[in-house]
Formats: sequence, C-alpha cells, structure tokens
Amino acid sequence: MAQSAKRDYYEVLGVSRNASQEEIKKAYRRLARKYHPDFNKEPDAQEKFKEINEAYQVLSDPEKRKLYDQYGHSAFTAQGAPGDFTQEVVFTDLGEFLEDVFKGFGFESIFEKATRGRRREYRRPIKGEDIYYTVELSLEEAYRGTVVNVPVDREVPCDACGGLGFDRSKGERTCPTCGGRGEVVQRQFFMTIAQTCPTCRGEGVIREPCPKCRGRATVRVREEVRVRIPPGVDSGSRIMAEGKGHAGIYGGPSGNLIIMVKLKPHAIFERKGNNLYLDVNLKITEAILGTELHVPTLEGSKVRVKVPPGAKDGDLIRVEGYGMPKLLGDGKGDLFVRVNIDVPKIGLMDKLFGDGKRVLRLLEELNDLLPEPERIRERKV
Ligand SMILES: [Zn+2]
Ligand SMILES: [Zn+2]
Repeated sequence: MAQSAKRDYYEVLGVSRNASQEEIKKAYRRLARKYHPDFNKEPDAQEKFKEINEAYQVLSDPEKRKLYDQYGHSAFTAQGAPGDFTQEVVFTDLGEFLEDVFKGFGFESIFEKATRGRRREYRRPIKGEDIYYTVELSLEEAYRGTVVNVPVDREVPCDACGGLGFDRSKGERTCPTCGGRGEVVQRQFFMTIAQTCPTCRGEGVIREPCPKCRGRATVRVREEVRVRIPPGVDSGSRIMAEGKGHAGIYGGPSGNLIIMVKLKPHAIFERKGNNLYLDVNLKITEAILGTELHVPTLEGSKVRVKVPPGAKDGDLIRVEGYGMPKLLGDGKGDLFVRVNIDVPKIGLMDKLFGDGKRVLRLLEELNDLLPEPERIRERKV
C-alpha cells in the first residue's frame, strides 16, 4: 500500500519525464528552498522536503533515473529494505549541494553552524571521572571529626598543551581522508552510509598530538587532597570533595573525589547507629545491692552510672547524650551500659580473693538465708 501511495518522482519535482538534468536541478533548488524545514514551518514541510530530496537523489543520477524509468519505485525497494532512502542518508548525501543551493540567499550561516556542530562533537566538554578512596577511621576520629590527607592520582589538564591534546605550534591541516567534512560516505548499491571519519575522528582536521600527553589532553599527577571528615560518620558514609576527581576534558568540569568511610572496630565500644554500647562486669553482690559506676566515654572523660538494685544479666542502662554525634542534625545518640554479672568460679576462689574459704562460708550462709525461688518459671503468654 505504501508503495502505491508514493508519488511519482517527476511529479514531485514538477518536471516532465524527459526533463534535462539542468531542469531537474533547477526545480529541485526552487522546491528545496521552499520546503526546507528550517525556513518553512508548515506541518507537512518536512515530509515534502524529504520527498523532494528523495526524488532528486534518484532523478539527478542518470543510472538511478534509468532504473526508475524502467521499474518505477520498485527499482529501489525490491532489494529489500524500503528504508534505503531515509531522510538522513539523502540529506547527508546532498549536504554539499544544499549548501551550494542556499549560498547567496543569506542562509550559509545556518549550514556552517550545522557543519561545525557536527565536527565539533568529538571536542564536546566531558566531565572528569570521580575518584573513590576508602579511609579507615577509629571510632574516636569518627566521634570528633578529623582531617585526612588523601593521596590521589589525578588526571589534570596537560600544562604543555593547555589541556587541548595537540601541539599548537605545529598547526593543523585538513584531514586527507574526509577532506575536512568529518565524515566519510560509503556507497553500497543504492544506499549511502555516512560514517564518522576514522582518521580525524570527526574533527575534520589532523593535529600533531602533544608530545607530553600524547593527545590525551590530561596528565596523571599525584596530589594530596585534604578532606575534612565531619563528626558522626559511620562505615558506609561518603564524603565528597567537589571537583577533586579527574579533570574534565575540553573544558568539562572536574569529577569529584569520593571518600568512603570504614570504621575500625573499637576495643570497648560497639556502635549501632548513633548509639554506643559498653559492657560492664558487676559483682554478684553489686547486682543484688545496686551500685554506682564511673564508665569511660569517647570524649575521654568518665560518666557516672547508677546501677539499680536487682540488676539482671544483660540489662541495659541508658546514659543519655553520650553516644555518637548525629551526622545530620544536632545532638548525640545515647550510651547504653550493658550489665554482665561476673559469677566467680568456686575452684578459683583461693587465688582470686586470698581468703577464699571465708567468702565461700559467707556465701553458703547467705544461700541458707535467701528464700527459695519458684523453680519453674511460668511463661508469660
Ligand atoms: Zn577526517
Ligand atoms: Zn598535552
């Protein structure tokens, strides 16, 4: 169906079947100017422009025209893909001719812009990559915050070429492969394929690469970056030093240095979120009678903790505000003192207490005085 809906190429260009090449070219110039989507904002202008280009592509080529005269549209679709004539392919192929068509009409700037844009693509600013670095901190450092000097192997703009990658003194010459167009066109039967020029990588020019960076535009240097670690960081926290990653290329912004925090385990404190846990041992009598302890804190000072009478193994005593500083927001978490009742081993009593026999006797006396507990505990349902 699409086939039969396709308009006759001669009809599209408004010329007779025996029109000369000159007449075809003239008709095309007139119509291309009229329907170019940059100048004609009517909704069907682009479709028309595409149709005109396609017709011209065939009728301006004596070989293709002969095939078309003989077989009609099927000459170009019988080979398979009916999409052989996409707008891009046709347009690319006629790019130079179009430029010529519009010259002298004040339009060249638009084509210059379009061509420049395409060539410059390779030199588009590229953001530098981020650098990741893991730093191991003690819990004290995480508590107070600290400053770390991070050795970083950074890519920075090459000073020899000013971050351009080429030798300015050697100048530049037009790429011999593409003649400065930045792309090469390959013809395969009736298809034309435009590809980025492999010699100049689309730039259109060949430049002598900078001898220092070998054309990479950046060089690698070792730098020490001072990074402030705020109080309260935990394992998994990430601190970003903006712009301290690899340099961008062609004027692109630098990447970031990302410090990943890992906390070393602490000898006495365990951290869970913003809270700290500290294990203390109680004498069996302290557990029964209750006591007062002075426990260490991460600040370095000691804090008084009241253990109520009758503490049980594993009880947690909360000391408000002696935990870790909150990374986001004010204040601190809490310190939890975890009670562990130290039950002395009878066999070791002599060694431990010197007067082990007396302790044992007193304990036996105490044992007789204490009431019998209910042996079997009922489950709380
Ligand atoms: Zn080239
Ligand atoms: Zn260089």
